[in-house]
Amino acid sequence: MIYHHHHILNKEIASVKRKNKTIGFVPTMGSLHHGHLTLISRALEENDIAVVSIFVNPTQFDKPADLKKYPRTMDADADLLKTLKGPVYIYAPLPSDLYGDNVVSKKYNFGGLEHQMEGRFRPGHFDGVGTVLNLLFRAISPDHAYFGEKDFQQLQIANKLVEIEDLPTKIVGCPIVREESGLAMSSRNKRLSPKLLEEAVLIHQMLVEVKKYFGRYSIAKLSIIVEKAFRENEHLELEYFEIANINNLKTAARKRAGIKYRAFIAAFAGGVRLIDNIALN
Ligand code: AMP
Repeated sequence: MIYHHHHILNKEIASVKRKNKTIGFVPTMGSLHHGHLTLISRALEENDIAVVSIFVNPTQFDKPADLKKYPRTMDADADLLKTLKGPVYIYAPLPSDLYGDNVVSKKYNFGGLEHQMEGRFRPGHFDGVGTVLNLLFRAISPDHAYFGEKDFQQLQIANKLVEIEDLPTKIVGCPIVREESGLAMSSRNKRLSPKLLEEAVLIHQMLVEVKKYFGRYSIAKLSIIVEKAFRENEHLELEYFEIANINNLKTAARKRAGIKYRAFIAAFAGGVRLIDNIALN
């Protein structure tokens, strides 16, 4: 069932809640792939119903051209969701249904998480993410909300948001789903030519390499290896490579005992921006 208006969805949700049923929520920007389906299947396993939002949120895009080019495949998305077993409600609003007349971000202080990596390269991005998640969580009142580790920084922002906004939703992180080649599944992959799909595998290859040598090499040396590999690839352009503490996402200059790290890459493949990451220890 597709809902375009939150007041109609709210009535359904109220009736679900009256029966003491639980709601698992998966926020997406649509153009669904197997990675999204894994999150939605988990939401169905752990809750009585799943709500999937399909909304390309304008306030989290810093570049209008990127927003415009973001793939939109509503009919195919609805067909894909029909293949899942269990009650899935789709919420596909227009911006005005969520935001009213004022499609702008609220300003958030996520304790510094928002200034790292994606926040550094996409100004205002996490204000947009926080704003839309807050609006969606208030419209849907989910018991659980499922986020992919593919957007690890976003997952940590969601954890911080429920704390700041005092929301009762429990955030659940889910592993990254990959193509057989290792490339992380992404809606943006639909914009890549067959050649670029092949070349983009370097992103995951380098993350695996960094994981392999993390115990032996310094972070400086690992950075040199990754930067060199991207310099030598004429199809990809590295935006950042970072090793960061998984809790505060601060860039790590050197390894310290007792801290968990992940490696993060953002790179352009023919103008399409891709991100990926890996747990290191
Ligand atoms: P998006 O539609 O790209 O905003 O993604 C919606 C949700 O799906 C986010 O929580 C993403 O982290 C998650 N997601 C996207 N791609 C993957 C993937 N390859 N593996 C796991 N989760 C993913």
